[in-house]
Amino acid sequence: MPTSLVTGGAGFLGSHLCDRLLADGHRVICVDNLDTGTLENIEHIRSRNFVFLQHDITRHLDLGEAVDEVFHLASPASPIDYLRLPLHTLKVGAYGTHNALGLAKQHRARFLLASTSEVYGDPKVHPQPEDYWGHVNPIGPRGVYDEAKRYAEALTMAYHRQQGVDTHIVRIFNTYGPRMRPRDGRAIPTFLRQAAEGAPLTVFGDGSQTRSFCFVTDLIEGLVRLIRSDEHDPVNIGNPEEYTILQLAEAVLAATGSPSAIVYEALPQDDPVTRQPDIARARGILGWEPTVALDDGLQMTIRGTVGVGAAPA
Ligand code: NAD
Ligand code: UDP
Repeated sequence: MPTSLVTGGAGFLGSHLCDRLLADGHRVICVDNLDTGTLENIEHIRSRNFVFLQHDITRHLDLGEAVDEVFHLASPASPIDYLRLPLHTLKVGAYGTHNALGLAKQHRARFLLASTSEVYGDPKVHPQPEDYWGHVNPIGPRGVYDEAKRYAEALTMAYHRQQGVDTHIVRIFNTYGPRMRPRDGRAIPTFLRQAAEGAPLTVFGDGSQTRSFCFVTDLIEGLVRLIRSDEHDPVNIGNPEEYTILQLAEAVLAATGSPSAIVYEALPQDDPVTRQPDIARARGILGWEPTVALDDGLQMTIRGTVGVGAAPA
């Protein structure tokens, strides 16, 4: 039975990844310090093949057993989290990624870094292909996250080139689904919570900035295909269907039938104007493309399921 280690495994994406790996018949070691994740995300797991270690991956981790795959997802991910935890975000991108790569090297395991579309910053190329180097403000408030991920990518490639580690880098574009915290500040959980409460939906700026939203099961499929591929250069995984944030707010109102109004609030500093993945490499190399449309994904998120007729996630 293969063993997979998932750092950040009690978070939103990490917990869905643990579910998927267990369903595939893997033993799963979930490492999380519960900074932004929660035990509620994994409490439904009853498998004997699942181990939870409460541990801060910026500190050395001695594993008592061999692992075949290391998925490194640990990092604050929502803007309000990394603005609240700026030094920790930089540390987990640096020391945390060193430690996770060190485990992969020690065990000759495949390694996957969860990087982000934020490495493109406020992009001047549209849609964003992987060979675009980005347009990032290193000293702005988002710099702690963007530069931590850019450093983590550089570190991963160095371990690959110099140490021969079998590394993979996924650049994740905005992903949503059940288990996002209603107050994590990201647009979809915020709008869904506001709609459910009958409170106004808070659109920042004039709502003309764009994002492209991927449902969680599509994203997880991309991560699993990538770590088992021979591709070492970064691969974008995201849904190329692009929406303005105002369109997203309207889609949430339609999905929920909520009578909430839309109000406009100040745009945060350095908020990217556009974001849309070019997924030609994912299609070509992994045969991957998203299957869940926004309206269907919103309905599953509202119901707390990840499939038609599925039990709550
Ligand atoms: P999340 O906040 O739900 O999960 C992150 C997890 O990492 C949490 O459980 C947290 O407790 C854990 N963690 C943080 N620091 C840690 C440390 N030092 N040691 C151990 N665990 C630690 O966020 P998410 O949306 O699930 O994001 C997971 C990963 O995917 C992150 O690396 C994020 O940068 C990346 N990503 C996510 C998105 C998205 O849209 N969800 C987009 C781009 C990139
Ligand atoms: N946003 C918004 N209202 C909110 C939360 C977010 O208008 O209550 C906007 C935010 O300014 C950004 C987009 O929605 O333009 C996506 O924000 P999110 O925090 O989900 O992710 P980001 O892509 O910025 O990391």
